[in-house]
Amino acid sequence: MTCPICQKEGQARYRPFCSRRCADIDLAHWLRGNYAIPTEESAMVASSETDKDPVFRH
Ligand SMILES: [Zn+2]
Repeated sequence: MTCPICQKEGQARYRPFCSRRCADIDLAHWLRGNYAIPTEESAMVASSETDKDPVFRH
């Protein structure tokens, strides 16, 4: 089974995750209630990139 966070091979101890770190990341997503919507970070990146280059928008 692969880790759903980083797609590495999962460890039995942390399954289905590969490490404690990835398990914590997944848990944090659940707690924030946006587990199924991973677009928040990419949307922030996209907006900051467009802000950097306003010429593109006009
Ligand atoms: Zn992982």
